[in-house]
Amino acid sequence: MEKENYLGVNVSPLNYEEIIADLRARMEAGLQSTIIAVNPEKVMAAEKNEELRQLINSSTYQIPDGVGILLASKMKGGKISSRVTGVDMMDRLIRFAAEENHKVFLYGAKEEVVTTAKQKLEEKYPGLVISDYENGYEKDNEKIINKINASRAELLFVAMGSPKQELWIRENMGMLNVKVFQGVGGSFDVFSGKVQRAPLFFRKLGIEWLYRLLKEPTRFKRQLALPRFLMKILGAK
Ligand code: UDP
Repeated sequence: MEKENYLGVNVSPLNYEEIIADLRARMEAGLQSTIIAVNPEKVMAAEKNEELRQLINSSTYQIPDGVGILLASKMKGGKISSRVTGVDMMDRLIRFAAEENHKVFLYGAKEEVVTTAKQKLEEKYPGLVISDYENGYEKDNEKIINKINASRAELLFVAMGSPKQELWIRENMGMLNVKVFQGVGGSFDVFSGKVQRAPLFFRKLGIEWLYRLLKEPTRFKRQLALPRFLMKILGAK
């Protein structure tokens, strides 16, 4: 798989279905895989932080979350044809797990959030087995590792915000019998119904950022990463 590279950060050009097909083959080969969401904010942060850049680039799939990465690919003649968002990737992986009988573990968020997310996902996908879960505030790491291995989960979703969740995955994956790891940020909050996504109209047009800006004007400063990122891409060779 040929990666695209924006300001030193790799991005996987695969769409949801291509990732599922690739992952299935990797699982059959007994390989572990990691999925990390990439957006302009993370790329700008990685420019100044070598460790973060390495963390992103050493992942198996760097999914193009955020319309900025899609625009950068279009501007540079890349192959990325649509966004692959963290929350939709998780949803697709959950469906894959339900259809192909792979157990799932949810780790992160507040206790009531993770339990509600578990319940809602099991209602949405009959046959899905979320064999266990842990909230994101448990301090005893050995207990967490043992719990995950005892659950026999093959897919693990970690929702503790970025880069905390990715650092935890890198640190612990060698001790886990898990095959697929995804850091999913606030996704359990979305699946639990606690946080609403932007209406489909905004999502389809790729202007989720505009909806968020209207709802939370204080995000303005964070969102400046997008135009700054695009200016840099235009300037970069
Ligand atoms: N969280 C957690 N443990 C922590 C810190 C955060 O489980 O020590 C959870 C928090 O409850 C929330 C999620 O991580 O569910 C944070 O999501 P956020 O939207 O901040 O992440 P982003 O998508 O911005 O990386």
